[in-house]
Amino acid sequence: MRRVSVFGATGSIGVNTLDMLARQPGEFDIVALSGGANIALLAEQARATGAEIAVTAHADRLAELRAALAGSGVAAAAGPGALIEAAERPADWVMSAIVGAAGLAPGFRALRQGATLALANKESLVAAGPLLMAEAARHGATILPVDSEHSAVFQALIGEDIAAVERVIITASGGPFRDWTSERISAATIAQAVAHPNWDMGARISIDSASLFNKALEVIETREYFGVDPAQIEVLVHPQSIVHALVGFNDGALMAHLGPADMRHAIGFALNWPARRPAPVERLDLARLARLDFAAPDPARFPALRLAREVMAAGGLAGAAFNAAKETALDAFLDGRIGFSAMAPLVEATLARLARGDGLQNPPDTLDVVLAMDHVARVRAGEVLAGGTWQ
Ligand code: NDP
Ligand code: MG
Repeated sequence: MRRVSVFGATGSIGVNTLDMLARQPGEFDIVALSGGANIALLAEQARATGAEIAVTAHADRLAELRAALAGSGVAAAAGPGALIEAAERPADWVMSAIVGAAGLAPGFRALRQGATLALANKESLVAAGPLLMAEAARHGATILPVDSEHSAVFQALIGEDIAAVERVIITASGGPFRDWTSERISAATIAQAVAHPNWDMGARISIDSASLFNKALEVIETREYFGVDPAQIEVLVHPQSIVHALVGFNDGALMAHLGPADMRHAIGFALNWPARRPAPVERLDLARLARLDFAAPDPARFPALRLAREVMAAGGLAGAAFNAAKETALDAFLDGRIGFSAMAPLVEATLARLARGDGLQNPPDTLDVVLAMDHVARVRAGEVLAGGTWQ
């Protein structure tokens, strides 16, 4: 039996992960499941899977979780410290699917057991890619990509020599505002931003997809996973979300990965790697699809991609700062404090302010250093927000 933990079990990726685990009955012992505010779902999942422990990120919800688990034999715990303790429980396979920088510490700790970390939490790699990779190497752990584009690249690279790779192309649907004018995008509402045309995901990543901040994170994620130079990474707008990524080799060949927009493919791949097992995803009928469209992204309407390039050029702790500033800008948009198109300028202004003496260039040596930059960047973003007009 493989021992499995799922962090972020109550989210979109988490629910899909439990679905995939349930499809291979008798193969897994569930160790820890974590959630946030959705105590009822967490308790239901823990009972159904017979997990050893269920952890909510919210310390003040412990009594509620305990009550929901009464008589089940599942232990209850709460708070960020409890999440880390749960990540230290021995497990063979750990899904990292908490949203945001909060997912960094549990995933980092899970690597210490030499386990396989299935990484959906792209923020971990953006904030602390070199640190995470070094920790995995130190403990003989494996990090497997769960983000669809990166799973696609990983699959296209099987049996290939990374030295023969000329370029890596990740696709973007373009989100709900792909064809909108700048004026219309500025006035976009939360409901419009969250309505992704192809993928059914958590609210935050859906809004990041609309702004292309998600793709900006993924460009950095590509660099960290595969060690390719930023100049080798391209983004292609592909409205159908069928081709997830392409790898170009030095002989001119392009290897593309195609599949339906269903994360259970990438989750199942990471769960069973290096084997392939049946997955309950729709089989593509390319004749019915008839066409696949591609276009270059528009840098004027979607400035996030340029910011990602600047962050990679800056190096050091710029990734941690970028992610934290982006999360703060997203919170401000969700709170109605700023308009949709103010998010990128707010992130850019925050990075400029951090460059003036906050140690942005320091290397991401330790988790503490990364988390400290995450904190400072949120404070600076708040100051920038308070000091300007951002509607
Ligand atoms: P969701 O918002 O659906 O789920 C997030 C999970 O994290 C939930 O379990 C939530 O708990 C929990 N959570 C929220 N805040 C905290 C916190 N502060 N501390 C600990 N746990 C917390 O997100 P997704 O499943 O969509 O995304 C998860 C990760 O996977 C993200 O990093 C995202 O970028 C990445 N990803 C997602 C894809 C998708 O298709 N959804 C595709 C590729 C990557 P609760 O809901 O109970 O509050
Ligand atoms: Mg993706």
